[in-house]
Parts: sequence; structure tokens; C-alpha cells
Amino acid sequence: MKKRLLLLFSIFLLTVSVPLEAFAYNLFGYRLTNGVGNWGKNRQYYYIHDSAKKYYKSLINRAWETWIHSPHILSTPISFRETTNKKSAVVELSEFYDITSEHDYLGITYFYKYQQEVYPWDTNWGWAKINLNRARLKNLRETDQQGTIAHELGHAMGLAHNMYEFSVMCQFGAGRKTARPLRDDYEGINKLY
Ligand SMILES: [Zn+2]
Repeated sequence: MKKRLLLLFSIFLLTVSVPLEAFAYNLFGYRLTNGVGNWGKNRQYYYIHDSAKKYYKSLINRAWETWIHSPHILSTPISFRETTNKKSAVVELSEFYDITSEHDYLGITYFYKYQQEVYPWDTNWGWAKINLNRARLKNLRETDQQGTIAHELGHAMGLAHNMYEFSVMCQFGAGRKTARPLRDDYEGINKLY
């Protein structure tokens, strides 16, 4: 009996003394008010605005797939599906075309709470709007375009930038080497939801 207790105790010690693994993700600090789907129990929806349908619909759907179907060893609660009913969506994706330096970015994500723009380091948001800049995106390979969309989806769910090349949350200009979320990105989501 004593021996067994000792064994249990040492297993416990071993468990708590292993240092927590550090992951390369940054969070804004807040998140989507109603979550990211809770393993299908509370599925969420995204809406593709007409402007983005011609060039980006399939890339958007594929980018979502990379978030939804994480590697088997690491699941996340993400359960998102496309909807044609804007009102039931919490993420909207649209396209614009701007070559001026004022909008010198590939994509940008805006956050809203009760139709009011908010900052994701201040409060939770109920709606995220992603604008894809085709004037810039069209110069990228298709995989990198999809990677940029996946990156913006990460923002919409609450992930901030990091400088780790093997994270989809690394900026393309900072040398991102993956077009899909990898372990750290999923870990970030699991920390948030
Ligand atoms: Zn970004």
C-alpha cells in the first residue's frame, strides 16, 4: 500500500515538475463573443461578400478547412461553415482593390461589437470583417494568397502577429513559411476557447 502511494506521489511530482511547453503564439487578449463553434455544439458561420466570390471563394473555403481540420493529434473547438445569410455569420470576407500606399497591405481584419468598431486588445467582438486587397494579393502565388486568408482568419478569431516563420500568424513580409496554421496557431486557439 505504502509503495503504491509512493509511486502515485512520484508520478504526480513528475507531472508537475515537467516545465510547461512554451508556444509561439500571441493573443490580442480578447476573442469572438460566441466562440468558434465549440466542437460543433455551437457552430459558427462565415459569409463571403459578392466582391470576394469571383477570385477568392475557393481559397477562402480552403483556408477555413485548414483551421477546421487540424492534425489529428491536436484538435481545436473550431467549427465554422459558410452561410449565404449574412445575419447568421460572425465573420465576413470581402475584396477591394487599392494600389495606393495608404492601403499597402494584403488583407486587413476589422472587429465590431454591436456594429461599432472595437479593438481586439480592448474587448471581445461579435463580428469580424476581413478585407482582401486584390491589388496586392494578385502578385502572390496561390498558396500564399490562401495563407494570407488563413492569417486573417487567425486575427478574426483572436490571434495576433508573431515572428515565428512556421506560424501562419507570421506576416508574409516577415518571411512566413507556411500557408496553413501549424501547431502553435492551434495552441493559440485552444488557449482562447
Ligand atoms: Zn496580420
